[in-house]
Amino acid sequence: MIERFNADVEPKKVFEYFSEISDIPRGSGHMEKISSYCCDFARSRGLECYSDEALNVVICKNGSVGRENEPPVILQGHLDMVWEKRSDCSIDFEKDGLELLSDGEYVFANGTTLGGDDGIAVAYCLAILDSDDISHPPLEVVFTVDEETGMDGALALDASRLKGKRMINIDSEDEGTLWIGCAGGARFDALYEFSPVSASGTACEIVVSGLHGGHSGAEIHNGYANANVVMGRVLKEISGSVDFCLACICGGTMDNAITRECRSKIIILSESEALFKVINRLNSSLRKEFSETDPDFSLRVRSCKNEKTCMNKTDTERIIGMLCDFPNGVVSWSKSIDGLVQTSLNLGTIKTVDNKVSLVYLVRSCDNSEKASLIDKLKITAEKYGAEYKVHSEYPAWEIREASELQNIFAETYEKMFGKKMTVTAIHAGLECGLFCGKIDGLDCVSFGPDIFDIHTPDEKLSIPSCARTWEYLLAVLKNL
Ligand SMILES: [Zn+2]
Repeated sequence: MIERFNADVEPKKVFEYFSEISDIPRGSGHMEKISSYCCDFARSRGLECYSDEALNVVICKNGSVGRENEPPVILQGHLDMVWEKRSDCSIDFEKDGLELLSDGEYVFANGTTLGGDDGIAVAYCLAILDSDDISHPPLEVVFTVDEETGMDGALALDASRLKGKRMINIDSEDEGTLWIGCAGGARFDALYEFSPVSASGTACEIVVSGLHGGHSGAEIHNGYANANVVMGRVLKEISGSVDFCLACICGGTMDNAITRECRSKIIILSESEALFKVINRLNSSLRKEFSETDPDFSLRVRSCKNEKTCMNKTDTERIIGMLCDFPNGVVSWSKSIDGLVQTSLNLGTIKTVDNKVSLVYLVRSCDNSEKASLIDKLKITAEKYGAEYKVHSEYPAWEIREASELQNIFAETYEKMFGKKMTVTAIHAGLECGLFCGKIDGLDCVSFGPDIFDIHTPDEKLSIPSCARTWEYLLAVLKNL
């Protein structure tokens, strides 16, 4: 039976705080209220606290009795949540709190995301800060803002004020798994300016659609086809038997999503029969090629309204050349962790605007030097085709440490408590740990958290028993540090 969630389940303090922060609107970019709530919380308990211009909050607490002189440890999570709701949900996110529900096993929100990502970290930390009977070393609790929209809080944070050289990030959603590394990233934008010529010929639109898509970090290993890249192959193939110029090409909406659809318009200078033949042949060979990963793949062509201008032959060839020459997808696999992608890139969007074609790639790598080398390769390729480029929004990888005291304590404590081994792994997506490692020399860092399912969607749900076990585990780790 689904009922209103009452915070009267164990761990009570944690769920009390979780309910309290669920009443505070805290979507990314709306951080004022939650940030000042955390500062007020600290002040009213006499805890040292500071916030910065970005609205990040740091709260310090002395070590428990007898542990005051131990080296401090950083506990970290993010204050913002993703605001997603069902179409029939009438919540005003900026004003209303969330309505928490439970079926006894899970906590979730009525029609919206729950914000368990990463409200559970905030609730754990507040419960620890509020306690006087938990054994722990001196604590620096760091609450960052706007993780979900580009880690802007962690980017802006002045870490030189932090004394801790060990950090526990509580922003993972898989109980029993310890994350010890993550990919860094960068955006690579290639921009090709073409000289328009007047279009005289038959206009046709080519559409690549029905592809699976997915997250360009977490799902890149699945090998889903990228519609923009497929379009490059299609155009190259057509150019073998049809005389044409490209008028425009557009595909994808986000740099971090594997592109599901791409459209291009071409002006045919010869007769169009050959085009339909090639498209038919390609449609069946590509359907076969993608049958495992993208069974709904479709390639279509239809005649369309004529364009006033298009690219000349040279520009057309160069755009197709770039699409075929730039690498895409998985570039290399980790040598230390089975099945982990080390380096990848995704051609997230192509746009044609005002005589310019832009190609936007999101590059990821768990190895900072391999990432730099891939970006160099992209630069050389762009130059080869006469395109300008810009590298930006770069953040470092959280590189896996060979020897980590923190990892050992987490692994040993887990095995002792639960009688099984923890999964120790890394992820091919971004975590704030990478930014902290870039700012704090020699930082020893791990990430973990309770089971939360379907984050970033209105189906998001937090497991109550997992939350309780993870709480006991965190307390045991703090005791063993
Ligand atoms: Zn998160």
